[in-house]
Amino acid sequence: MKRVVVIGGGVTGVLSAWELVRAGHEVTLIEARALGNGASSRSAAGIRAQFGVPSTVRGLVYAERFFETWTERFPQSQPCFKQNGYLFLKSYQDDLDAVRELVRMQRETGLAEVEFLDKAEIDERWPYLDTTGVAAATWCLRDGFLLPPIIYQDAAEAARALGATVVQNDAVVGAERSGPRAAAVTLASGRRVEADVFVNATGFLANATSKLFGGRELPITVERRYLYFLAGLKADSDWGLGLEDFARLPMTITPAGAYGRPENTQLMMGWLQFPKPAEATLDNQDEVEPGFGVGMGDYGAAVRKEVTQVLPAAQDMGRLTAVTTGFYDTTPDHNPLFGYDGRVENLVHAVGMSGHGLMHSPFSALIVAELVARGADIASFELPDGIGPVDLAIYGLDRAFDRHEGLVI
Ligand SMILES: Cc1cc2nc3c(=O)[nH]c(=O)nc-3n(C[C@H](O)[C@H](O)[C@H](O)COP(=O)(O)OP(=O)(O)OC[C@H]3O[C@@H](n4cnc5c(N)ncnc54)[C@H](O)[C@@H]3O)c2cc1C
Repeated sequence: MKRVVVIGGGVTGVLSAWELVRAGHEVTLIEARALGNGASSRSAAGIRAQFGVPSTVRGLVYAERFFETWTERFPQSQPCFKQNGYLFLKSYQDDLDAVRELVRMQRETGLAEVEFLDKAEIDERWPYLDTTGVAAATWCLRDGFLLPPIIYQDAAEAARALGATVVQNDAVVGAERSGPRAAAVTLASGRRVEADVFVNATGFLANATSKLFGGRELPITVERRYLYFLAGLKADSDWGLGLEDFARLPMTITPAGAYGRPENTQLMMGWLQFPKPAEATLDNQDEVEPGFGVGMGDYGAAVRKEVTQVLPAAQDMGRLTAVTTGFYDTTPDHNPLFGYDGRVENLVHAVGMSGHGLMHSPFSALIVAELVARGADIASFELPDGIGPVDLAIYGLDRAFDRHEGLVI
């Protein structure tokens, strides 16, 4: 049994705390504001196992099974996973042989449900999509989207019930060292918490947290992202998209990388077109930059236009009603960072989620629990239920960043 402090009450920190307390550790989870205050409550909440790196495919197969069986693990909770599938549309300019090869790799890695579809198959299955210029798609019906507040609130409650201490509205503001190790953290309230291991799960503030410990500079760029919402579909849409079809609409990604999916009665859309580094704090998360609103000529209109090309019913869906925004903590190869700091022997980083931290969170929590149990970095470990091995070098802090995750939206 180790005393573990987990810093950050987003999905990564909360599920890690739950995994750690289940493994018999004495866990304190510390969140500066309310649980989910960071990116976890500002996400598109998509989940897919269609990834380009085999270990991540396996990790996400594990995560999808985890969320499919959520209420068995958290009986006090409610279902948090809507499996509408992910449909990645590809244009004639895409390298379709490479796409076929990707699907073959994913299937061999254990994602049995992923399919390569040609244009005729897309037209047959989703007649309301305009496939002009679309040559093919990859489709996995097991993918979908999550309900984040259920995850971070109910998993924190379960961790608490198992004996974890959950602190909210109290930031970690300092760390005490004892030689190469950290001995304790101090909180804004003046409280001091000692531990054997400290886990940095502070998302886009990962480097600020590492600095408090005298830890390493992590290769993370913080970027702002936007989500746009379109008012509901009319019951008599001319485009062959009925209300029931809309409720089942997959996360649909255009060949240029814009996406749309149903969020209750609205269409949620995003497009990661203009990544640029942002000065991020807990207080400016919701600031919409000039030009990124929902007015005529704003970026929201461009996103809508792109999504409308494949989903013409979006033309009839009334006004853009809202824009939300939050930060990505992105690494150079878009794979997360998991590992011991090195400069601080007992500091574990679980950060750099690169826009897929929500879907990754059960897998992230397993990795954190494994690292805490072993007390050192490890090369690989075996996922449960025969899913297979995970090569942790892909997520290591000292990796070369030359194995890029190609499937990023
Ligand atoms: C617009 C947008 C769309 C996205 N879409 C998707 C998607 O479709 N699918 C997906 O999987 N992911 C998506 N993401 C990414 C996903 O939201 C994040 O990767 C994930 O939420 C990261 O979780 P986390 O727990 O690591 O970090 P966070 O949720 O950011 O949590 C970090 C927490 O640490 C706390 N904290 C910081 N400093 C301190 C301190 N000193 N002391 C105590 N607490 C501290 C913060 O308050 C915060 O609550 C999206 C993100 C955005 C912004």
